[in-house]
Amino acid sequence: MSNRPEILFPLFAELTKLDGVGPKMAKNFAKMGVERPRDLLFVLPHSLINRELITSVQDAQPPCVVTVEVVVGMHRPNAIKGRPYRVTVQDAKTSFQLVFFHAHKDWLNEQLPAGQRRVVSGKIELFDGVAQMVHPDFILRPQAADAIPSNEPVYPLTAGVTQKTMQKAMASALERAVDLPEWIAPSLTEKHGWPGWYSALKSAHAPEKPGDLARDVAPRQRLAYDEILAHQLTLALARAKMRRAKGIASLGNGHLRNKVLAVLPFKPTGAQLRSADEITGDMAEPVRMNRLLQGDVGSGKTLVALMALLAAVEAGGQGVMMAPTEILARQHLEGLQPLAEAAGVVLEILTGRDKSGERRRKLAALAAGDIQILVGTHAVFQKDVVFHDLRLAVIDEQHRFGVRQRMDLGAKGAAVDILVMTATPIPRSLALANYGDMDISLLDEKPPGRLPIETVLVSNTRFDQVVARLKAAIAEGRQAYWVCPLVGESELVEWAAAEERFKILRAALGEGVVGLVHGQLPAAEKDAAMARFVAGETKLLVATTVIEVGVDVPSASIMVIEQAEKFGLSQLHQLRGRVGRGADASTCLLMYAPPLGETAMRRLKVMRDTEDGFKIAEEDLQLRGAGDVLGMAQSGLPRFQIADLEVQADLMKIAQDDARLLLFEDPDMAGERGKAARVLLYLMEQDKAIRLISVG
Ligand code: ADP
Ligand code: MG
Repeated sequence: MSNRPEILFPLFAELTKLDGVGPKMAKNFAKMGVERPRDLLFVLPHSLINRELITSVQDAQPPCVVTVEVVVGMHRPNAIKGRPYRVTVQDAKTSFQLVFFHAHKDWLNEQLPAGQRRVVSGKIELFDGVAQMVHPDFILRPQAADAIPSNEPVYPLTAGVTQKTMQKAMASALERAVDLPEWIAPSLTEKHGWPGWYSALKSAHAPEKPGDLARDVAPRQRLAYDEILAHQLTLALARAKMRRAKGIASLGNGHLRNKVLAVLPFKPTGAQLRSADEITGDMAEPVRMNRLLQGDVGSGKTLVALMALLAAVEAGGQGVMMAPTEILARQHLEGLQPLAEAAGVVLEILTGRDKSGERRRKLAALAAGDIQILVGTHAVFQKDVVFHDLRLAVIDEQHRFGVRQRMDLGAKGAAVDILVMTATPIPRSLALANYGDMDISLLDEKPPGRLPIETVLVSNTRFDQVVARLKAAIAEGRQAYWVCPLVGESELVEWAAAEERFKILRAALGEGVVGLVHGQLPAAEKDAAMARFVAGETKLLVATTVIEVGVDVPSASIMVIEQAEKFGLSQLHQLRGRVGRGADASTCLLMYAPPLGETAMRRLKVMRDTEDGFKIAEEDLQLRGAGDVLGMAQSGLPRFQIADLEVQADLMKIAQDDARLLLFEDPDMAGERGKAARVLLYLMEQDKAIRLISVG
């Protein structure tokens, strides 16, 4: 990052420039992610030692740190090697002992001359009922006692870094820092009483009372806001760049939509219509759309997508919908093709499985504009796929699709409108953090008439009973999924486990009744297994999590999930969402391997007690943290050091508005505040964002 502002140079220098940090100590610091003074400054104290002078240790409740003035009494050197050296001292009310291991007699006599006054500060403990202070942190003459900080910050540490080293290095890092130009809107700093950056930093490192360590005190909140603002600025820059890119105005007239609605066996929900209108409204603008459709499992996102795709066709163009798996792409084809046909629209599928001749034919038809809607896997975005007039790209079920990938996709396509659909209800703060560059439509209403799903927790020790119940249910004509546990990272291992479970269940339930799908199966076999299950030939489908997203078989009404405790809550919610789609009351059995820890049990109980995806997501966030909920590695969410998304969700919204406004008023970030905001981006190492400004 050659353009880093000079004002930040001292903060990005070698750590060894700091007092008390040599090459070896720098290595120790690196273990806690601290490699430059900048990193160190954002390590904030987590507690505070009060070293204010008190009258007597008698007034304290050991164990605790006290500072008292004493008269030095008798020295008792260690008579036996290995025993401590003791010095009796007398404060205003009582006497106690200072204790030293491996101490030098001469040094002790010099530090603590008998009969003289000293101020000592350190941790008081009771040992056999007698108060003692082992190795005081400070021993000073009363007139020099000012050197004892009345409140001492305590920092998180790592092996090889002591509190003293930390404090010394921190003090010198703070010395190197200078005040930076203000990047926060004055209205905000004023409203919240936030100090400037440098002043906030100094205060955060110099707490005077326990309350100063709280997350919501002004200096700490400001530093948290800086982190969040940098992130939102990055997103806002990505968004602005997309919006600057020329868009196509795709104005539909509704004639195809109306034909589809006429043959649909149900009425769209209000939320479906509202979302479809928001989307087609965006599409009609000459600005590039970048919208997220968020809706719980089963809320009917596919129909909304179809209405948007039809608007693209109505406007004379083409639309494409990408699904994450082959199974889902095929399902979209099956569900959507009859509707498209009714409207006289040509809809085709393209996946990695198309044979070369077939593929060539489809690519030619696409290029000629003869295929109007294309569904498929990521194969639809390959280089040689050329559209005649692509207007809209829909990306389905991509909760693993992070900011990064969206930016890449945005860079690739021309002026195509983008609609991302996610079935993972995520808490609002995370939605803003992860999708802050997008506009959001919410499908917050489920199609009517859905029966609640009964969720039961069962120990895996009752495996045989579960199988017996399943057998009875199948005899009644019901269909079920059986999801095998997550065994490990490797698909191969998972596959082996699924095969194994398949054999056992087939033996128990009968030949021909049980099917199997997993990621390692040849494509044709996978399709055939799915098709047999959809047709009702097989009654039980044993599967790995390939069925997690989107699969829609309304007649299936039982979901068994093995080792449910190993899944994330939103994943369980997704899996459970595969049932409860038809006319029958559905059941979900969450099997677990006892004994379960308290948290694991609580998570499963959340699943048992609610079907509300947003509630589950909030709970998941509380229990696991933001990174796990989003799948940190893939998401564009940075690791916030100071900010805490779980409790500072409000800051996320403020920052989003602030960032968007800043770029609206100063798109090139060339004004005073814009320049200051650039400094913030460099400080927070948002290199991707910085490239967006310079390229943009
Ligand atoms: P998801 O949001 O999980 O992708 P789908 O689009 O797969 O949901 O829809 C789930 C099921 O609900 C499908 O069988 C679909 O046909 C049905 N469905 C969609 N919208 C409605 C509606 N308005 N009324 C009744 N059923 C609907
Ligand atoms: Mg779907």
